[in-house]
Amino acid sequence: MSTVVPLTRLTSAAIRQSSGRGFSTSRTSHSKKHYQLLVVGGGSGGCATAAKFAGKLGKGHVAVVDPSEMHFYQPMWTLVGAGIKTLQASGRPMQSVLPRGCDWIKDQAVSFDPDRCTVTTGSGEQIGYDFLVVAMGMQLNYSQIKGLPEAFTVDQSVCSNYWSETVTQTFPALEALQQGNAIFTFPNTPVKCAGAPQKIMYLADHYLRKAGKRDNTNIIFNTSLGVIFGVKKYAERLLDIVKDRNIQVNYRRNLVEVRPEKKEAVFVDLDSPEGKTETFQYSFLHVTPPMSAPDPLRQSSLVNTDGYLDVSKETLQHVQYPNIFGIGDCTSVPTSKTAAAAAAQSGILQKNLQAVMSGGKMQGQYDGYTSCPLVTGNNKCILAEFDFAGQPLETFPIDQGKERRTMYHLKRDVMPELYWNLMLKGYWNGPALTRKLLHLGMSK
Ligand code: FAD
Repeated sequence: MSTVVPLTRLTSAAIRQSSGRGFSTSRTSHSKKHYQLLVVGGGSGGCATAAKFAGKLGKGHVAVVDPSEMHFYQPMWTLVGAGIKTLQASGRPMQSVLPRGCDWIKDQAVSFDPDRCTVTTGSGEQIGYDFLVVAMGMQLNYSQIKGLPEAFTVDQSVCSNYWSETVTQTFPALEALQQGNAIFTFPNTPVKCAGAPQKIMYLADHYLRKAGKRDNTNIIFNTSLGVIFGVKKYAERLLDIVKDRNIQVNYRRNLVEVRPEKKEAVFVDLDSPEGKTETFQYSFLHVTPPMSAPDPLRQSSLVNTDGYLDVSKETLQHVQYPNIFGIGDCTSVPTSKTAAAAAAQSGILQKNLQAVMSGGKMQGQYDGYTSCPLVTGNNKCILAEFDFAGQPLETFPIDQGKERRTMYHLKRDVMPELYWNLMLKGYWNGPALTRKLLHLGMSK
């Protein structure tokens, strides 16, 4: 059943534009810029959304606000960090991935006024909208870890796959590693792709074995979580893998400081009431940073108490403002934050936003589908797929909890093509249909 939010807070402009006329292409005569649909953030979710509406609403009625020159397919960074793909292969100029007919406002959104239906950009420009989709992704808070920003500049053995500026350091750091502790971290905040902090660890293990250096190195996973992965089926397999590969896992350990001059990483024991710390020597340190929604969003009135865009987890509509929707990592939707989740959400968002635009009832209901290709070696992958309840929702009628070469090729070779050619063009809403077909209609 879809949640229908009364249109009481829909602005008169939006109602005029939307009521009973389906997609309107008329434009209000403001001196400032005004769009029928404004999308803030041109990443995975924002680009897919703009593509779905740009053709329908017509030229000049959809705009994307995003300051980034490049659009990156971030899931590839796991492979970039392992020396399997290049950073160049993971990025394309933003202009080239935005749909035809959509305006690109190359600036950042700095504030939101949902009552006046405007977004203000860094240059001070106010942009009006009838409908707004917020797709700003996650902010990487590296500076919350004492000494880390400096460590990136002075210590070549400190790296992070999470940022385009640091991902290219990971493989050289692995190549330079001869002996000692290779430490991988997981922060005490929500993250995007919760599997990525350990995927690079398995790839590092693979590389070190191949290079004959594994006997001289200890691989350590210091995670803030109390489990290795949030879904029991996949967690059980991963526990077997870490045991087989002699990887040490320390739970409830949160990185708080890096001292590059002494090659020390300081972790807080999250279960210690007095905040006991433990210091590890490192020869290689891969950091997954603390994350949050971007500051301009967190400082707006659009967020819940955790600082994420407050939307209905089923309809993706804002809980207070019916002309605002959200997609992807910056939202309060309680599922694992991935591009796969954004793809599944994009189909639901399209249905529901279209319904609201034409004064109809929202029918789309998101089930929490998300996916994490857990790369466990240079030719192995467990394809985790699950829903809101953490129940597996697997596309293929085989046990996806097993390490498989086919799933590795799907991740390495097929998914990037699917992303650039289908998802960003608005044609990929996740694998639900394929799953139903492959399971002969017996799957959810
Ligand atoms: P993003 O794609 O991050 O886009 C956000 C956009 O908002 C950016 O373009 C940014 O410039 C823009 N923005 C930010 N602030 C502002 C502002 N103030 N004004 C305007 N624009 C702004 N997902 C998977 O499905 N499978 C994987 O295997 C996988 N592996 C990953 C591995 C790594 C190392 C990383 C980093 C991510 C991985 N992900 C994976 C996660 C995936 O990349 C994200 O979940 C996905 O990109 C989320 O899409 P989004 O649109 O919410 O955010």
